[in-house]
Amino acid sequence: MIASKARLRSSRRLERIAGFRLPDRAFHGVVLDTLTSRLDFDRLDPTTREQLLEFVADFLRCDCKKSPQCGCPERRFAATVLELREAGLDHRQISAHLADIYGIELFPADILSYLEDSVHVLEAIEKVAALQDRTAVAAGARTHIAALER
Ligand SMILES: [Zn+2]
Repeated sequence: MIASKARLRSSRRLERIAGFRLPDRAFHGVVLDTLTSRLDFDRLDPTTREQLLEFVADFLRCDCKKSPQCGCPERRFAATVLELREAGLDHRQISAHLADIYGIELFPADILSYLEDSVHVLEAIEKVAALQDRTAVAAGARTHIAALER
């Protein structure tokens, strides 16, 4: 899963205000719990604070009972990478964007292989949907493939 490869640039700074050691992985359960606990974000430098608030706002807001351990943050992150590609960014630009906005480090090579895997999954969906005469699903898959491959 692509989210498991994402690292948080500010994990050392976050540790300082949390008061305990944190894993580097941005979507590790302990990190997600920490980000949704009552931390004093004002003790962070403005850039880090802004990035972590963006992270919380974009990936950690759901109404699941088990939130943030419900899988939504990882799914939203994976969807965000696809949306950025469909918006026209290439894998290097996506990597730079994630670093800028969220302070997330994700290698362009990892993004590229994730995008390729996603196209393969969509191709499989398209085939199965066509076999079952589910034309709308097949067309939807084709649209996404075209947007990812352009
Ligand atoms: Zn959820």
